[in-house]
Amino acid sequence: MANKVKPKGQTMIKKVLVANRGEIAVRIMRSCREMGILTVAVYSDADRKAMHVLYADEAYHIGASPSSESYLNITRILEVAKACNADAIHPGYGFLSENAFFSEKCQQSGIKFIGPKPHAISQMGDKITARKTMLAAKVPVVPGTETAITDDQQAIRMIHDIGLPVMVKASAGGGGKGMRLVKRAEDIESSISAARSEAKSAFGDDAVYIEKYIESPHHIEFQILADQHGNVIQLFERECSVQRRHQKIIEETPSPILTPKVREEMGKAAVAAARAVNYEGAGTIEFIVDNQLNYYFLEMNTRLQVEHPITERVVGIDLVKEQIRIASGQKLTYQQEELQQNGHAIECRVYAEDAANNFMPDPGKVTHITIPYGVGVRVDGYIYEGFEIPTFYDPLIAKLIVWGRNREDAIERTLRALQEFKIAGVKTSLNFLENIMTAPDFKGGNYTTHFIDENINHLLNEKDACADNCEDMVVISAFLEYLYRIRKASPKEMTALKNNWKDYSRIRSVLKL
Ligand code: ADP
Ligand code: ADP
Ligand code: MG
Repeated sequence: MANKVKPKGQTMIKKVLVANRGEIAVRIMRSCREMGILTVAVYSDADRKAMHVLYADEAYHIGASPSSESYLNITRILEVAKACNADAIHPGYGFLSENAFFSEKCQQSGIKFIGPKPHAISQMGDKITARKTMLAAKVPVVPGTETAITDDQQAIRMIHDIGLPVMVKASAGGGGKGMRLVKRAEDIESSISAARSEAKSAFGDDAVYIEKYIESPHHIEFQILADQHGNVIQLFERECSVQRRHQKIIEETPSPILTPKVREEMGKAAVAAARAVNYEGAGTIEFIVDNQLNYYFLEMNTRLQVEHPITERVVGIDLVKEQIRIASGQKLTYQQEELQQNGHAIECRVYAEDAANNFMPDPGKVTHITIPYGVGVRVDGYIYEGFEIPTFYDPLIAKLIVWGRNREDAIERTLRALQEFKIAGVKTSLNFLENIMTAPDFKGGNYTTHFIDENINHLLNEKDACADNCEDMVVISAFLEYLYRIRKASPKEMTALKNNWKDYSRIRSVLKL
């Protein structure tokens, strides 16, 4: 059943600068356009011809290609926002989205930051502080240290208390970086120093702590929305256990393992977590869940999440519009009781990367793209034919979001859409994602974060190279089109060619190649 539609008031925000790039920048601008809000893009050298630049109402160059000189350049971004009279800045995800200093600078410049206030970002951005805050709010956290590890002896004592295996984690960590699994006591010192140096170089902060390693874990997170008037709602969970290197690649909702009772409890814990920091805006409470459905707070992401569209699809709410309404001071227009999960949604992250080569990014020029369409299918992307995917940024190039009446329908439809999805010129994770949809462990629903490691042989299976070769398909479809246009082919010949398009040798002979 769809949620009740209510009229929504106009916001005071008339122009939004999107301080981001790629699919998320375009996705945010789409909602702005629907709300009658003007959009401003900012871009680096490498992104001169990027989709977000073409899509926006206005676009301004902000610096060289490395993100430190462009998408992370706070001074330059604020200069542009002031010069073009933007009322608000949407930071997207990554880049400046979880930067408390940026949120504060926006406030000081009289520009609304579409996201939480600086105090909430700092309290949640530091994992040690977040754990303390959650303990005080009676939200269960993974057993572990309450302060940063100062010496190896303290770490060794800790291991005695909580038992091996443990995770050494960077307090400032994100994107799966700065984490080490420790299985043997003798490895603790080397793991701490490795996690420290990774954290120092990635986040400029080498504080690390220890928490118990949850065996056979599920990553389940809850979406929340909180307004400036003290109203907080949760929009149910997303199951994100299909991960490589602690990074999600497939997400689905509802989680196939949660019971209604545990879902309700976790939803309440998520709301309590948000309240504990007077949260405002859209946010995500991540939990790690063991196979007895005990759940523990992992971290809070104080921003829009990559996988937010599956929640949008199942709950029927545009989260970006809600973020904008909240930032402009409006009250939430939905009550908790009105919300429900309708059907099942799956998101596949399509990366320009080579799964067979340890998921190595493979940026380059896109020579062909066929987007899947049809019932229940949404694609959020930003690449087009001829676009050169820059080497400087995250290799995520598109997200396929599919809805079905139930999980089985959603899986069948995702597989169909993945089969239609073709990208040539760069290596992509499309084939890998297709293999996930056919993996019995995924179909069975009770998979853990070890799913990819445990199924790697099946997942790396290449399809028949001929059938999957987009370059060939482009030649073949162009040829069929040509035959059709000049009407040199009889209908029978056309049908035979179409039915046998996979028979490459036959087509080659027709083409006299
Ligand atoms: P999710 O939204 O599900 O948490 P990811 O963990 O993959 O997705 O992170 C989203 C994006 O933000 C990715 O582009 C990732 O590289 C980036 N990111 C995440 N955490 C950080 C961080 N602490 N610093 C810089 N970039 C980050
Ligand atoms: P990040 O900020 O990099 O996203 P998280 O704390 O959210 O870091 O952890 C990322 C992933 O690492 C989790 O989704 C999970 O797969 C794994 N992980 C983190 N902590 C634990 C733990 N204590 N036990 C088991 N797995 C963990
Ligand atoms: Mg996380």
